[in-house]
Amino acid sequence: MIKKPFIDPAPLRTIAAQFPTPFHLYDEKGIRETARALHKAFAWNRGFREFFAVKANPNPAILRILREEGCGADCSSLTELMLAERVGFSGRDIMFSSNATPAEEFRLARRLGATINLDDFTHIDYLERHAGLPDTLCCRFNPGGTFRLGNDIMDQPGEAKYGFTRAQLAAGFIILRQKGVRTFGLHAFLASNTSGNAYYPALAGILFQTAVDLKRETGIAVSSINLSGGIGIPYHPDQDPCDITVIGEGVRAAYEAILEPEGMGDVAIHTELGRYLLGPHGCLVATAIHEKHTYKEYIGLDACAANLMRPAMYGSYHHITVSGKDDLPCDHRYDVTGSLCENNDKFAIDRLLPPIEPGDLLVIHDTGAHGYSMGYNYNGKLRSAEVLLRADGSVEQIRRAETPRDYFATLDLTGLFDDLG
Ligand SMILES: *Cc1c(COP(=O)(O)O)cnc(C)c1O
Repeated sequence: MIKKPFIDPAPLRTIAAQFPTPFHLYDEKGIRETARALHKAFAWNRGFREFFAVKANPNPAILRILREEGCGADCSSLTELMLAERVGFSGRDIMFSSNATPAEEFRLARRLGATINLDDFTHIDYLERHAGLPDTLCCRFNPGGTFRLGNDIMDQPGEAKYGFTRAQLAAGFIILRQKGVRTFGLHAFLASNTSGNAYYPALAGILFQTAVDLKRETGIAVSSINLSGGIGIPYHPDQDPCDITVIGEGVRAAYEAILEPEGMGDVAIHTELGRYLLGPHGCLVATAIHEKHTYKEYIGLDACAANLMRPAMYGSYHHITVSGKDDLPCDHRYDVTGSLCENNDKFAIDRLLPPIEPGDLLVIHDTGAHGYSMGYNYNGKLRSAEVLLRADGSVEQIRRAETPRDYFATLDLTGLFDDLG
């Protein structure tokens, strides 16, 4: 398949003339369309709610768009909670799915009326001591072992730090009921960036059956089941996108087969998607500033892994389009690099691309989720701006680029940097 950027070369030139590269660019129209498709796919479930995983893209302008589309917010830290509140999410609009949680974060979540998703059995006690127990609680399940879909090993929950064991879930529910909790939820996140349409239905099957068994064992029927994140996107042109309609119907089939016969046909389905909603609707725009001919051919960009960590951290593929050169043959083999003093600072290795000259604009695809937000300041590199392409074609800077003053702001260097203004 051919992967085209959501922005054409001519308008991209105009945007890059207004906002210096590098910057992340987001596509409002695409974000809204994906949110609507998700809601449509799960419209069969009366209580359905998507709580967008704020860590994937914590920009207020993006969160406002998702709020307008009916999404809630899934937070896991103090600042994510603060952000969600200030953007206008309140109470039940907020899931708090954290782990190793500090007391002050539980206290803020309680104050906001967020739905707390407890990560561990011992957190029952910790939450009660530090913030008090709410009426409603969700518990995160970790089935342990290996999670397979058919013959494929998807992930190793037994090696993951998250969640209650199965035995802890039953014991925890009973203790929580004794302590006055009245409404229960069940949550699990077993595999990340999954491809195909089978993950959510399989996870739903596990969680639905667990909910039925827990009801038999404890008499407690959960009100909501949270399938969390994990639906992937086609980073590589050879990958097919997930079909959210098929996924929604797959979850529905499991719901009708497992929950409804047990009189649990009123359970609300919740999701906490990040990557699926936002990933394809962002890109990192950078300028080629160097070409280097040594043992390999290198193109040096004005962006680096500080702007997009996934290739360096996970070896992830991110497709690259040389803007305006779509029609040229991809007959040049390049390593496309950033400027960090780390040899893993490469956006692509041995990638076949059209001939690149300094000044060319490169579009690095699929940075809308876990892109900017994973950025860091290594080598004193500054975080980029974020720009929103509005549905009406206008553009808006929704976060300015960092300046050296921002970088030095946490130091006490009285008098040293006064010339920065
Ligand atoms: C990261 C995360 C998500 C979102 O995951 P995606 O892969 O972006 O869909 C959802 N829930 C929790 C608890 C997470 O940690």
